[in-house]
Order: sequence, then structure tokens, then C-alpha cells
Amino acid sequence: MTKKLAHRPSRKWGQNFLTDANVARKIAAAVQTPPPRLLIEIGPGKGMLTRYLLEYQEPYVGIEIDPQLAAYLKETYGNLPHFHLLEGDFLEMDLQALVANYPERHPVVLGNIPYNITSPILFKLLDHATRLREAILMVQKEVALRLVADPGTKDYGILRILTAVWADVTYLFTVPAARFYPRPKVDSAVVRLQFSSRYAEQIADYNLFRTIVRHSFQQRRKMLKNSLIPLLPEGIMDKLKDVWRKRPEQLSIDEWIALSNQIAQIQRGVTSGE
Ligand code: SAM
Repeated sequence: MTKKLAHRPSRKWGQNFLTDANVARKIAAAVQTPPPRLLIEIGPGKGMLTRYLLEYQEPYVGIEIDPQLAAYLKETYGNLPHFHLLEGDFLEMDLQALVANYPERHPVVLGNIPYNITSPILFKLLDHATRLREAILMVQKEVALRLVADPGTKDYGILRILTAVWADVTYLFTVPAARFYPRPKVDSAVVRLQFSSRYAEQIADYNLFRTIVRHSFQQRRKMLKNSLIPLLPEGIMDKLKDVWRKRPEQLSIDEWIALSNQIAQIQRGVTSGE
């Protein structure tokens, strides 16, 4: 039996609670990673998704920042041996240490995540991509579309490229704003990230890759020639003729990797005085 809870939703913590149990069931059922798993939920809130995740009977760790909701969750599910709740900020918690406590299990992260910290959460997950198997996340629909955007479209950008390096992303389904309380202004969507280092392994210098992508998209109307010149050693553009007239949204993930590897190679040549 779920206990009664008098709680006032907080904007600061991006609280838009899912009100449709079918959607929660679909999110839980979307897990593709086979057992044995460790289920990690970001912001379980009032437990709408939690109850379906607990049905897996596998270790579950929820991380909830709101003390009132954390207490409520502990009271409601604390009697289950596989339920664990950490009260605090997901962005501050040591995800590596958490996962290391369950070395034999495949970590799967789930959550209807607070919209105001979507990007920091995504980037934290990408930082831990080699330790995670899968993430199933509810995000704003607009973010979901950016995560799967094709080159040449307006949604294609930094988020898509940096995510694609560490994960294959699938758009699973749209969830209308009316399925939440309080009702948000926009629709949401559920995406799946299957973590994989396939692309990351091809990148010679990931910091350089990230810098080039970020810098280019900050000036997305400019040709790469113009946006990258300040970052690169003199004369380098002559060696990058094939891409320098392109705009950032025209390059595929493979082309970004090839470009950054080429720049890394030229830079090495410059620093070693070749
Ligand atoms: N999972 C619940 C649901 O679907 O109804 C709640 C979703 S609500 C969009 C986001 C939840 O994340 C809230 O419970 C909020 O308190 C929690 N939250 C916000 N910021 C957080 C953070 N930095 N770390 C952990 N939880 C956070």
C-alpha cells in the first residue's frame, strides 16, 4: 500500500511527477541489458517508476535530493532488501564507487530526470560510459530530438556528437505534457543509451576532439575555416582543405573524428618540429 504524501512540487528541483503508471511500466520494460543488473534511478520522486523497477528483484539504488521524498521512499520501500536510497545530489555522488560495489552486475541507469540539469546529468553519464551498460531516460522531447539528430539538421550539434561518441541512442517514445503533475510546458520523450566505446576508441585525443566540436558549434553559421583558425597552429588549414569550407552541422561523427585526429597528428608534427 502506498502511503499518503502531502508534498509541494519544487521548481528548483525540476519536479514534474509522472502520473501515468502505463508510461512508468513501459520505461521499466524498456531495459534491454540482461541480468545480473544493478538498477540506478536518478530522482525517484514519489516512486512512480521505482515500484516497477523493484519488481525486477535486483539491487536498486535511488538517488533523491529532496529530503521529504527521500524519507517517504525509505518509509514505503525500506523493508525490501534490494532497495537502497541515497539522499543527495546525483551530480555530486561518486558513481564510480557505487558501481564498483557491484562488480558482477551490469549497471543500468534510469530516470525521469529533472529538466533543469539534463545536460550535466547526460555529461556525467558519458564520463562514466565505460562503466555503464545502458541508460533509459525521460527528457524534454526537444532534447531527445537533439540526441538522435542527423547531420545537416538544426538539431544536430554538440550534444548529439559528444553523446554519439560514447553511446548509441534510440528515441523510444513521446510522453505528452498532460502525463505529469505539475504539467510542464513541453512534451517529453524517453530515450535509450546503449553505452559503447566503439567511436571513442578511434579518437586520438578526446580533449582536443571535444574542444574542436564545442568551439565550432559555438559559431555554427561559420565555415570551419573561420571558427577553427584561432585554435590551430599557423598554416594548418592548408592541410585540411577538404573540410575547411564546411559548416559544423555538415560533418558526420566519423568526419569529426577524422578531422580531430588529423589536427592531433599535425599538432604533434608541429610540436615535435617536423
Ligand atoms: N521519478 C519521479 C517521477 O517520474 O514522477 C520524479 C521525476 S521529477 C522530473 C525529478 C526528480 O529528481 C524529483 O524527484 C527531484 O526531487 C529529483 N532531483 C532533482 N534534482 C536532483 C539531483 N541533483 N539529484 C537527485 N535527484 C534530483
